[in-house]
Amino acid sequence: MRADETPDSKLKRNFVVAIDGPAGAGKSTIARHLARHFGLLNLETGAMYRAFALKALRLDVPLDDPGALERVAAETEIKLEPGEDENRVLLDGEDVTGQIRNQTVTDAASRVSVFPPIRAAMVKRQQEMGAQGGVVMEGRDIGTVVFPNAEVKIFLDAAPEVRGMRRYDQIGQSGHPSAKPVPPPEEVIRDLRARDERDRNRADSPLRPAPDAFLLDSTNLSLEEAVQAAEDTVEAWLAKQGHTASDR
Ligand code: C5P
Repeated sequence: MRADETPDSKLKRNFVVAIDGPAGAGKSTIARHLARHFGLLNLETGAMYRAFALKALRLDVPLDDPGALERVAAETEIKLEPGEDENRVLLDGEDVTGQIRNQTVTDAASRVSVFPPIRAAMVKRQQEMGAQGGVVMEGRDIGTVVFPNAEVKIFLDAAPEVRGMRRYDQIGQSGHPSAKPVPPPEEVIRDLRARDERDRNRADSPLRPAPDAFLLDSTNLSLEEAVQAAEDTVEAWLAKQGHTASDR
């Protein structure tokens, strides 16, 4: 603890905010906002599964072979470096941040993430990264598996059509990464549903809200309203501890 620090101010910086939910629910935007607002590090765990999937694709490892994937995982180092807008993702020391958002990697990440040994390797690394607290961690299993004792848990959801359209707009705005034409909305919604199904129905760490998570359905909310609701949830927790954001 620094000389000018009280036990209180230390507590306030060291809490963990877990944000889980399906694809396209707005997790990244909300996590980014909370991190900035409360002075926390923002860690996107999906980027780790994506980086691992990229490696498996590069090595031509069958995505349905858990043994082969596990051997690759044992020799893989994935690091997340929190940045202003997104995490910098290092795969065995190589910056792959710009290579993990295309549809091929997205689909592969969803497939490799069903296997327990792969999850175990990622979860261990995520727990190490968040061990000191002071983080907003977003993913699918943060409040249930990675940090079941997280101080604040938010489960963010929205109707599949709404999430699909948000994702469609995002792809349009950012330029389709694989330089293919932007897929039609129906296709984006279909891919999103397929990923959801896999995440919700896998045996290991299925996507579901922790019993003590705050459920935030953003179907009928603007992104600003959803961000505000998430911020209010953290503020409410701080207030319960006897703090407000302004005395951070
Ligand atoms: O969040 P993002 O879309 O980047 O995640 C990519 C994939 O990684 C998801 O489709 C999901 O299957 C998997 N994932 C996971 N557990 C996490 C984060 C992501 O299984 N904590």
